[in-house]
Amino acid sequence: MTKKYQRYVHLLQKVADLEAVQALLGWDQEVNMPEAGAASRARQLATVAGLSHELSTSEELGDLLDALHARGDQLGTAERRNVELSRREYLRQRRYNRDFVERHSRLCSEAYEKWLQGRTTNDSTAYLEVLDRMVQLKREEAELLGYTDHPYDALLDLFEPETTVAELDPLFAEVRKKLVGFVARIREQAPIDQAFMQQKFATDVQWDFSLLLLRGMGYDFAAGRQDLSPHPFTTTFGPGDIRVTTRAEENNFANMCWSSIHEGGHALYEQGLPAKAYGLPLGKAASLGIHESQSRLWENNVGRSKRFWEYWYLRLQEHFPRQLARISLHQFYRAINRIEPSLIRTESDELHYHFHILIRYEIEKQLIAGSLEVAQLPEVWADRYREYLGLEVPDARRGILQDIHWAYGSFRYFPTYSLGSFYAAQFFHRAQQELPQLERNLAAGSTGTLLVWLREKIHRHGQHYSASDLCQRITGEKLNFQYFMSYAEKKYDEIYFKSL
Ligand SMILES: [Zn+2]
Repeated sequence: MTKKYQRYVHLLQKVADLEAVQALLGWDQEVNMPEAGAASRARQLATVAGLSHELSTSEELGDLLDALHARGDQLGTAERRNVELSRREYLRQRRYNRDFVERHSRLCSEAYEKWLQGRTTNDSTAYLEVLDRMVQLKREEAELLGYTDHPYDALLDLFEPETTVAELDPLFAEVRKKLVGFVARIREQAPIDQAFMQQKFATDVQWDFSLLLLRGMGYDFAAGRQDLSPHPFTTTFGPGDIRVTTRAEENNFANMCWSSIHEGGHALYEQGLPAKAYGLPLGKAASLGIHESQSRLWENNVGRSKRFWEYWYLRLQEHFPRQLARISLHQFYRAINRIEPSLIRTESDELHYHFHILIRYEIEKQLIAGSLEVAQLPEVWADRYREYLGLEVPDARRGILQDIHWAYGSFRYFPTYSLGSFYAAQFFHRAQQELPQLERNLAAGSTGTLLVWLREKIHRHGQHYSASDLCQRITGEKLNFQYFMSYAEKKYDEIYFKSL
C-alpha cells in the first residue's frame, strides 16, 4: 500500500513539474518575451500542456487511484483526502475526450483573436459570432461533465468545488437587496475629491514603495520576486518560487499600489501552503474563492483601512513629498475609498464591484442554461448597466469587450471574485475578534500577527477542507453575506455620512 501511495505521489509531482514549466513559460511570455516569440511560445505551451494532460489521465494513475481508494482504510486522514480529491479530478479529466479538448482549444484561440480585433476596432460583431459557438460548446461541456440541478453547476465545480447555483443565487439576491440600496444612498452624497491621486507619480518611486509594501506584508523575497506586466498576476513554480507582477501608471498612483497588495495577498497564501505536499491536493489552494479571499482581505480589509495607512501614509509622503505634503491622512483615506460607478469592472470601487459580477453571473448562468442567446447579449448588458450602475454603455470596448474571460472559455469564473470578498469580510471579522491587538498592530505597521493567523487558519491546510467547511471551521458558520454588508456599512457610514 505504501509503495502504491509513493508511486501516486511520484506521478502527481511529475504533473506538478510540468505545470510549473507551463507557468514559467507563461510568466516569461507576459514579463520578458519579445513579440516575435509568440508563435513558438504558443507551440511550446501546447506541447507541455499535452504532456501534462497525458500523464494526469494515464491508465496507470487511474489504476493506482482505484486501488488506493478501495483500501482507503489503510491510509491516514491526509493521504485519504489526497487520494479522494485526486480521484475526483482524474475522473473529471477523463470525461473530456480528445475531440472536445481540441475543438475547445481551437475555439479559444479563435475567440481570443476576435476579442483582440474587436477591442482594436471597437466592434463586437465578429467576436459575438464566435462567442455564440463558444456558448454552444460550454453547454456541451456541462452535459459532458454532468450535473444534478443546473448545467452551470457542472462548470462551477471546476473552480469552486461543491458550490452550486442553489448557494450563489441567494448570495447575489442579497447583493441586490441590500448593497444596491446602500450604494444608491452613498451616490446622493457630495463626491469625494481625489484629483490629487491623478498627479504625476514617478513610476520608479512607485516601484520602490510597492516593494516596501510587499516586504511589510511579510512576502518572502528569498522565495519570490516582483516584475512588471500589463495584467498583474501571481504564479507559482513550486515551493520557494512564488512570483508576483504589477503594473505602473504614472498618472494613477492607485493602480500599482493596490495591484501589488492584491497579488501579494495571493502570494502569501501560496508561500504558506505546505511545501511537503508539493503536487498533491493538500499542497494546493482550497478554491479560487478562498484564493481571492486572501488577495482581497489584504487589498481592502487591510490595504484600504485607516489603521494600515496610519503607518504607511507617512512613508508614502516621504516617497512623494511634492504631491502629498499638503494632503492629510484623512483626505487620503477618503480618496482611496471613494464610491463612484464605473463602466469597467477592474476600475471599480470595492462596493460597485459586486454589481459588475452580479451582471456577469446572471448573464452567463442564463447563457449556459439556454434562456439567453448571445445575439441578445449587448442589449441585456446595456440594460443591466443602466439598472444597477445607472450608466449608459457607450461602446463595445467599455461593454462586453472589456473582459477576456469568455474569450478564454472561462465561464463560471466571475462569481469567485465576489465570493472572495465575502469570505474575506467574514474571515477578517473573525480575526479582529480573536486578535484584540490587531488594530493596534496594523497602526504600528505590523501585519505579522494577522499573517500568522491566516497561516494557521487557512494557508497550511491546502485542500484538506472544502471552502465551505473551512469557512465553517474558522468562523463557526457557512458563508454569510451579512459580514460583508456590515463591514461596508460601518466603513462607508463613517466616510460618507459622519465625516466632517
Ligand atoms: Zn485576484
